[in-house]
Amino acid sequence: MSITQEAARPADRAHPQSVGSESPDGCPPANEVAESRDAAPGRGRDPQSAADDYMTVELLCAALARIRLDRQQADGGHFRAAELPGPLPRAWRDARGRLWWKAQALGSDWPGNDLELFEWCRRPLGSWPVPLSLAGGDLEAILLDGDELSEFAEQAADLVRHADVEAELVQNQTFAALMSCARMNGDGEEAVQRIYCRLRRLLIDRPVLSDRDVQALARELSKADADSDSYLAKFVRTAYVLHPVESPGKVRLGRCRECRNPVDDGASGCGTPGCGGRPERFEVACLGGYWTQHRATRQFFHDPGLLEGRLLDRLAELPADRVRTEPWPCLDAWDAALIFEPVNAGGERECWAIDAKDCASPTLLARGFRSDARVPARRRIIVVPMHRLQTPGYLADLERELHGRAAGVEVLDEKAFLRHAAVRASRAGGAR
Ligand SMILES: [Zn+2]
Repeated sequence: MSITQEAARPADRAHPQSVGSESPDGCPPANEVAESRDAAPGRGRDPQSAADDYMTVELLCAALARIRLDRQQADGGHFRAAELPGPLPRAWRDARGRLWWKAQALGSDWPGNDLELFEWCRRPLGSWPVPLSLAGGDLEAILLDGDELSEFAEQAADLVRHADVEAELVQNQTFAALMSCARMNGDGEEAVQRIYCRLRRLLIDRPVLSDRDVQALARELSKADADSDSYLAKFVRTAYVLHPVESPGKVRLGRCRECRNPVDDGASGCGTPGCGGRPERFEVACLGGYWTQHRATRQFFHDPGLLEGRLLDRLAELPADRVRTEPWPCLDAWDAALIFEPVNAGGERECWAIDAKDCASPTLLARGFRSDARVPARRRIIVVPMHRLQTPGYLADLERELHGRAAGVEVLDEKAFLRHAAVRASRAGGAR
């Protein structure tokens, strides 16, 4: 059954007609829902109305992710086949309620039933009968691409805290397992940080691991719990999925030459946002099986980490006597800290903290961004990959949305940032 078929259950279909002028279940009271004051969505947005509409969209995305999880649990992972009893998630009803209130205020059409709202989710947000006050680029976004969540919807769902979705669960578990592997194997703060960075980098560089790779890693990171289960094994089991093979030997697989994500036979591209890599065949030598990243690991660590990995590689090329790069300082407070040597004798070192963000919506990025004060820095910079600039007004939208949320945080694209860092490095180290 598709995501939409579920909504067509009779109980739900009857529901909206029965409410008359009353609001659907789960609606906030009228005085908690701002009226829309803008008839022209995207232009001259009123901040309050925009905040409300982003909340509505986030609720919908969290609900779609929740429905997918329920479906996966109901039929062991086959997304389309489940018959699912029970009501739609609370977030879905809340979002529908918010749309209902807005439609009342505007005198516009509203989704008459859940099936209709699912249909809306397949259309660009800017074309919905209830006009949404969203940034220009976001009005182009769809929430459902066929029966799959769009990239926009995946990221929006991720930003809704406490949205109980499988991906968030795996993301949190992976993070926790990575952290305990680093803590248990690291003797002292520095060693913990070093192992943390190594495992974070593994998630970026190695979407596929053979069991031999894992064995080699386990010899280095060998600490185990009371049941002799190693912390590394727990980490790998959480972040990756095992594919057993019948006999030891080489397995031929397809992957993207650039980002190294696995690709299916016959695929023309890899499908990773911003990646133009071509598919290639490669061999994995394994004893009993190989590991590929869990969907959530790919979504939350690998794919967004590609930009982080690229930046760290480029920063490592800067002269070490002028600038030092610390990846993921304070166990990931920021993606990197750059420490420039003093410009002249008696001067001070200067630190920049950077966060690499590859996010479809600048507004959602800004809404979810927290500037972590644990790293004292002269400049705090969000670095955006070049492919996001294809969205018109992306950087301006991001700067505007950050304004008032994260004071003093700058926004630079990848190339501009590397240029700034190189210029600043060339002035550093004069004190010697
Ligand atoms: Zn790729």
